[in-house]
Amino acid sequence: MLSVVVDKPNSMSLCERPLPEPQTGEVRVRVRYVGICGSDLHIFHGKNPFVTYPRVIGHEFVGQIEAVGDGVNTARMGEMVVVDPVISCGHCHACRIGRQNVCSRLQVIGVHRDGGFSEYACVPAKNAYVIPRNLPLASASIIEPFAVAANVTSRTGVFPSDIALIYGAGPVGLNLLQVLKRVYGIKAFITDHLDERLALALACGATQDEIINTSRETLPEALTQRGVEGGPTLIYDAVCHPSILEEAVRIAAPAGRIGILGFSATPSAIAQQELTKKELSLYASRLNCAMFPTVIDWIERGLVDLSHIITHKVDFHDVASAFHLAESAPRESCKVLLDFGGPSGNAS
Ligand SMILES: [Zn+2]
Ligand SMILES: [Zn+2]
Repeated sequence: MLSVVVDKPNSMSLCERPLPEPQTGEVRVRVRYVGICGSDLHIFHGKNPFVTYPRVIGHEFVGQIEAVGDGVNTARMGEMVVVDPVISCGHCHACRIGRQNVCSRLQVIGVHRDGGFSEYACVPAKNAYVIPRNLPLASASIIEPFAVAANVTSRTGVFPSDIALIYGAGPVGLNLLQVLKRVYGIKAFITDHLDERLALALACGATQDEIINTSRETLPEALTQRGVEGGPTLIYDAVCHPSILEEAVRIAAPAGRIGILGFSATPSAIAQQELTKKELSLYASRLNCAMFPTVIDWIERGLVDLSHIITHKVDFHDVASAFHLAESAPRESCKVLLDFGGPSGNAS
């Protein structure tokens, strides 16, 4: 089989590798689509502290089960599935309190073990979720980044009276927007410096009034002009630059909550006073904690549409140009998928 292998930082090649055999409790998936994520770019550039090389990356993938290991019901053969990349031990403190996405022995598919940038991938059977029958397979590859958005909203909680602000209209910010607008039905402002990304925000449910181009408007004034008194009550940083958290803490309303997703090693300068005087809560969110069933339920109920952010499907032989597109063309691309040529199922 052919796999995209990152041998070392900034070095990637298409390699012929032996077909992996599913171990006990695993299934082998013939991969169709894999999303390219910002974290894949970080691994490629050697900026992910958890990864070891060489590595087959990719954690946002869909395909068809075509072999099962011992202990897995053979009736699962042929299922079209999407894979939750989180593998946890089940015994540590985090696992015991239901926070397995931060398991002390966490294994992330595509980071700690080989992932979906490959014609075939073996994964634990319980991580492979059947995709909704009428959902196009390409859209199903957005379930993982959607689960990331679902996770941070489950961490912060969402009240009907919340006024939300999302920094950044990239894939995660746009998914968050759909969760806030279409699942919770609250007011949610979203910022970006590119009109093309804000146009996607409109498609994801924002009103004209809720989009803010921060290359033309400064944020505090833009919010005041839009009638937000006293600051947003719920803020998400989907840009993940250290300066964003500093501003978020300044502009948040009293009793506000801030969701953070970044992995920057650079400190943010925050005075404790800012947090204490308004009793702000910071919620860090990593990956997702068993959120796939929730996202699949939202899809089946017609609440969310995962297709909006997909801008490109690129044959996996052209992985270098796909990476270039994902990294260097933010006006034309949002979510870029690699197509590994597997089956399309009933729906695609
Ligand atoms: Zn991702
Ligand atoms: Zn654990």
